[in-house]
Amino acid sequence: MQCPVTDKREDPLPCHRPTTAAAADELRIRRILNSTLENSNGGSLGPLVLNSISVEERAARATYEKAEAEKRHLEAEVRLREAIAKLHKNQKKKATYSTLFSGRHPLCQHGDSCVADSVGSLCQSFMLAYNVRVGIGVLLRAFKLARKRPYYSFLDLKLLLGENNLIVREEACRTGLLFGGFTGCFHAIRCFLRRKSGTDSPLNVFLAGGVAGLSILALDDSQRRRTFALYLLARVADQWQHGDTLLFALACAQIMYAYVMRPETLPDSYNEFIVKTGPIARPVLKAVRESCKGGGIDVASLAAFVTNKTGLPMFGVHDHSPIIPSSAVHPDTASCLAHNTRATRATVKKTFPLYLSLTVVPFVVLNIQKFMEAPIHTFWNAQKSAVRSTSFLSAFVGVYQGVICVQRKLVTKDQ
Ligand SMILES: [Zn+2]
Ligand SMILES: [Zn+2]
Repeated sequence: MQCPVTDKREDPLPCHRPTTAAAADELRIRRILNSTLENSNGGSLGPLVLNSISVEERAARATYEKAEAEKRHLEAEVRLREAIAKLHKNQKKKATYSTLFSGRHPLCQHGDSCVADSVGSLCQSFMLAYNVRVGIGVLLRAFKLARKRPYYSFLDLKLLLGENNLIVREEACRTGLLFGGFTGCFHAIRCFLRRKSGTDSPLNVFLAGGVAGLSILALDDSQRRRTFALYLLARVADQWQHGDTLLFALACAQIMYAYVMRPETLPDSYNEFIVKTGPIARPVLKAVRESCKGGGIDVASLAAFVTNKTGLPMFGVHDHSPIIPSSAVHPDTASCLAHNTRATRATVKKTFPLYLSLTVVPFVVLNIQKFMEAPIHTFWNAQKSAVRSTSFLSAFVGVYQGVICVQRKLVTKDQ
């Protein structure tokens, strides 16, 4: 029977008894198939080809078209993913900077926006450092006035706080800029790096600390900058067990060597502090230095010092003495033990006021709320801390002097 649609009896598609609707549907399907084939083959195959292909070929074409469709689907999926990633990247980039003033990064622990937190840290640290420096200056001035007569002269505000008497303003500002600049910069850079990298890695902290460390330039004295940098570097040694003790011992050895042999290498104020706190007089230090260098001792100067102390002429020291004996190191007493005890006691008297002001002021300024709640307890803690520091320094002086005396009894030549 001839098919009414294809006009061919051997049409591979079953020819249905034509009803008007079925015929129309079939015609539509054929048109779609033809159009698909035309699209996939550049229009070279027409309806005639469709009519001439076998069922197997048609199945192969269907498989091929399915594979092509899947391929196009995968390509579209990849493009969609790329577009989504690009969109996210743009949004992230926008979020990195747009919320600097209004919000904080999810990794940030602070409550305010990142800029507000950085500025707040800067101001807070500046005020704290400024107040601590001024407070220490006022207390030291008060102790100085209290030593003079009349002892209540420190109550005179003009003497205590006068422009000519209390010169700490510039230094207090510089100290404030150092600490405020450091904390402000550190927080700002850390937040920026968090936003940039999306992580809170130790590298971020290292970089932020490194850049913020430039705030040391707020100090105008290069020697103080160096001292401060060395102090901070020493804190690195705290990371190792007993590293701090070892570092302290090495630093003390180097400083005490410089104190006797190379005083010009120490900062003047520091050298002055050691000489005043220590139990060895300047002429003795000079004589020991000359003796160790072997260039001849200034005997006259040392003899004048000994005679001044004892009222008697010096003995046992000549131009090229290999060692300065105990009788010249502490001429006022023949007993080394008595000398060491006196040196320790004198150090306590000299350093306790200094340590008390250094501990009370930070305690009060940094913990003002705590101080107001329990002033006696806070003051007690500050005193304990001052006693501990004074004990340390006094013991250090006593032991150092003891070693010098023991050495004088054991060896006959100083090194
Ligand atoms: Zn932040
Ligand atoms: Zn001695």
